[in-house]
Amino acid sequence: MRGAALKTVADLEAVNLVPAESGLDPVAEKYAIGITPAVLDLMDRSDPADPIARQFVPTVAELQTTPEERADPIGDLCHSPVEGIVHRYPDRVLLKAVHVCPVYCRFCFRREMVGPQGLGTLTGSELDAAMDYIASHEEIWEVILTGGDPLVLSPRRLKSLMERLAAIEHVRIVRFHTRVPVVEPERVNDEMVAALLASGKTTYLAVHANHPREFSPDARLAFRRLVDGGVVLISQSVLLRGVNDDVDTLAALMRGFVENRIKPYYLHHPDLAPGTSHFRIGIEEGQKLVAALRGRISGLCQPTYVLDIPGGHGKADIGAGTVAGGDGCFTVRDWQGREHAYPPAE
Ligand code: SF4
Repeated sequence: MRGAALKTVADLEAVNLVPAESGLDPVAEKYAIGITPAVLDLMDRSDPADPIARQFVPTVAELQTTPEERADPIGDLCHSPVEGIVHRYPDRVLLKAVHVCPVYCRFCFRREMVGPQGLGTLTGSELDAAMDYIASHEEIWEVILTGGDPLVLSPRRLKSLMERLAAIEHVRIVRFHTRVPVVEPERVNDEMVAALLASGKTTYLAVHANHPREFSPDARLAFRRLVDGGVVLISQSVLLRGVNDDVDTLAALMRGFVENRIKPYYLHHPDLAPGTSHFRIGIEEGQKLVAALRGRISGLCQPTYVLDIPGGHGKADIGAGTVAGGDGCFTVRDWQGREHAYPPAE
């Protein structure tokens, strides 16, 4: 049986992931820590620049914030009509039932909302109100369960959520965004897979992975269970400095998804989350990487390179079609044709 997840600076010190007197207490006071046994197994402890450790082990660099960073970088709160719902686009909503994750990514775009001190789990009455909102808005075709990681919920609670959504005729698609198949693959058993399905609805699951080493044998088994069970898998990754900001790694990552029957979907430009500037690359650098991928790997392996425009204006495809300004800033067009300035990398 595997050990427990690492959740405190003392836990990290006890397994020599960080040195004693690391100075990380102020980081831990601000942002949650979470490293599962499966993630610990993936780390190469002999490599000080290990791309897996970089994603999960806190550093004092997180205490440095830049003026453009924001607590709510993609603007969830300004599109939240009721607790737990984000209604940014007409035909779909986010349903954020939980704000807990099995791991806490150091670059997380919702790092101010997730974790033990985050927004918590919806109460029964808040969940009722969220479901009422979905039921009373017939334009909602798709419900995206995110948060937090919805797969931390028990199969019983997931099944109950799916049954409630199944009763809403106009909802046709239910999508889960999760890291669980990679970071806690043992949770993905037959009971969990069955709980994700509901009669008359199609279930998609976006697997979050950022490096090809995340495709462990246990993760591959979890993917297989999901696909064979009837869940459609798509990918999401974040383009991160020191993790996957080179063509070889990105090509292996995208091929790894496809080999596991996961269609590459989104490659996110890192968001302006507080204390994450050490992860951000410039948009121009990202565009070059994405262009290089085009020439390197099959069209089947190509993700869409997207930016969540700060302020809640939605996603923009930034693989092409952006306009560079004279001062190094970019102008990014949102889905309604409005233009927004975006700062260059530090
Ligand atoms: S799993 Fe997602 S929501 Fe949770 S910490 Fe990582 S990026 Fe944030």
